[in-house]
Amino acid sequence: MLSTSHTVRGPFSRSTRSNGAAIPARRKRRAAEGSRLNRRKRQELKYWKRRATGVCVDGRCANKPEVGHTRCGKHLRQMSQCVTKRRNERMAQGLCIVCGERPKFWGHRCIICHQPCSKNPLPYRARRALRLYREAESLYDADWIQAKARLAVRKLLASGEINGNAAKALRLYAGLDSGKWWTYSEVGELMHISKEWVRRLLEPSKIALGSILGDNVPWRTECRTQRVGR
Ligand SMILES: [Zn+2]
Ligand SMILES: [Zn+2]
Repeated sequence: MLSTSHTVRGPFSRSTRSNGAAIPARRKRRAAEGSRLNRRKRQELKYWKRRATGVCVDGRCANKPEVGHTRCGKHLRQMSQCVTKRRNERMAQGLCIVCGERPKFWGHRCIICHQPCSKNPLPYRARRALRLYREAESLYDADWIQAKARLAVRKLLASGEINGNAAKALRLYAGLDSGKWWTYSEVGELMHISKEWVRRLLEPSKIALGSILGDNVPWRTECRTQRVGR
């Protein structure tokens, strides 16, 4: 009687069945996956056995591991060199240094690998770029509104509707000569009058300009940032 150890494999045992029919690709793939899993389990078991016996866990190394590590000095250096090489390769290819699959996003990691190691979902550089963009956009809007308002002030003064001290205050306030919008206090200092008197002088001009420009007036926009006029 033959034992199981004496079982002889046929010539088609790997890729074909005993009757000569081909083994389906799905079955072969499942067998390969099973073998890979078994190999991994064996490696894990070997790792924990070597760790329990107090030797370096790398291969068949018989050296003692470094304090606080599971590998000896030689294998720690090898591992470090390997990790550095892989990191440099991924950086050169523009890939995430953690997964090596997705492109990097405003740093060395992809947006997915960035999440677990940071409180903020967006990297610092991306947040900084967004902030600078918003600041530039608001500055551009403010400049555009001021330029449009100055044009309206020039037209108002040219029409002759505003005269005397009111015209002088408006000219200073809009910065037609200096290029800068002044506050009530600054205009008052230049004209040697109080801040409240400046406000009264400018009130009719501001009403007229408001009817021309609508909401796009610099004193309302700048109230939020520079508080011009108050
Ligand atoms: Zn070792
Ligand atoms: Zn990644």
